[in-house]
Amino acid sequence: MSQKIDQERRQFVSVAGVAAAATAVAPGVFLLGARAEAEPRKEPVTDKVRYGMLIDTTKCADGCSECVTGCEKENGLDLLRMPEGADPEEWDRQRPRWIRTVKVKDRLTGRVSTLPMMCQHCEYPPCTDVCPTGASFRRADGIVMVDRHICIGCRYCMMACPYKARSFIHENIDRQLSIAPRGKGCVESCNFCVHRRDNGETTTACQDACPHDAIVFGDLNDPNSEVSKALREKANTQLRADLKLNTGVRYRGI
Ligand code: SF4
Ligand code: SF4
Repeated sequence: MSQKIDQERRQFVSVAGVAAAATAVAPGVFLLGARAEAEPRKEPVTDKVRYGMLIDTTKCADGCSECVTGCEKENGLDLLRMPEGADPEEWDRQRPRWIRTVKVKDRLTGRVSTLPMMCQHCEYPPCTDVCPTGASFRRADGIVMVDRHICIGCRYCMMACPYKARSFIHENIDRQLSIAPRGKGCVESCNFCVHRRDNGETTTACQDACPHDAIVFGDLNDPNSEVSKALREKANTQLRADLKLNTGVRYRGI
């Protein structure tokens, strides 16, 4: 291990504020451990739970992107750097994003809403239908995610997703978090902070980061969960409901 890499690693660990060990998995590639974790899952994933989310766009402040920042920090996307000599515009266009803010306009009334967009965790996900290896899959608890061990980077799922929610890793990776491992040539997307689900935590990073309490997350199958109660109390809709994908992410105010 070179002195330079050693120094960089020390700096990163200090900046990220994580009290954890770094593991070299290949020359120059480090997996950095996450924060102290809660009790890991003991039971297998079950379809008794279906994870979902309600996003109240009436609470989303124009220009706010705290949820994006929170997700990128949680899942190590903020560690990615523009390769030397790359075109900044192209890098910005192509760099992976698990969540982004978009504006939608009602054609009839002209009303514009700002909303965060991520994988909608469809019950019938087109991205899994087209995947030739089974890397794109839906867990029993409703989380749609990518098994990066068997993703071959064909990007069919990116084309199939109506929400443009998936990203491709174009560059070599030299730093990543152990909770969200990634590699060049693989596709990835929001996985409802699956490491948190499997460590007994109840919130997502975007939810925690939102200063306006616009995001409620939980078990859609539990009538007493906060998200079920909020869905019952507040009129809400699916994006592209016409596709009948029965999304796990719902929106209010659009
Ligand atoms: S939003 Fe896209 S990536 Fe997510 S489950 Fe649906 S089709 Fe798949
Ligand atoms: S649920 Fe987790 S992975 Fe998905 S957008 Fe929010 S912070 Fe990112």
